[in-house]
Amino acid sequence: MGNDFICPYCKGFLNIEGNIILSIKAHDGKVGLISLSPELGNYRKKTNPTFIPEKGDQTEFFCPVCHSNLAALEFNKNLVKVLMRDDNQAVYEILFSGVEGEHCTYKIKDHDIESYGESSNQYMNYFGEFPKY
Ligand SMILES: [Zn+2]
Repeated sequence: MGNDFICPYCKGFLNIEGNIILSIKAHDGKVGLISLSPELGNYRKKTNPTFIPEKGDQTEFFCPVCHSNLAALEFNKNLVKVLMRDDNQAVYEILFSGVEGEHCTYKIKDHDIESYGESSNQYMNYFGEFPKY
């Protein structure tokens, strides 16, 4: 069946047939939709071709259902948070960077954190309450 991705606020389903669909606001104020891979550590994304972010540009991410800002302010304003529920009904917090060119994803449950992507060291020290493995 695969993992479901869920808004932390309205619990709306964010994934459709192998894509996560989110609403975005680019650094220049342009708004639209983005499609992301549900595979953690896969940074494939699709947007309308008029979105051309440059390295270091910060994009804001919103739930397309309830329009909540998905910034994970409890960790770092650059990180975006959604929930993931696996086939065993386990729910994880998934965090990824909203900064163009930063490839990092964190999967968090209880005191366990898994990181993905070549930029993953960038934010590890914002998860201070977690033991370092
Ligand atoms: Zn929502």
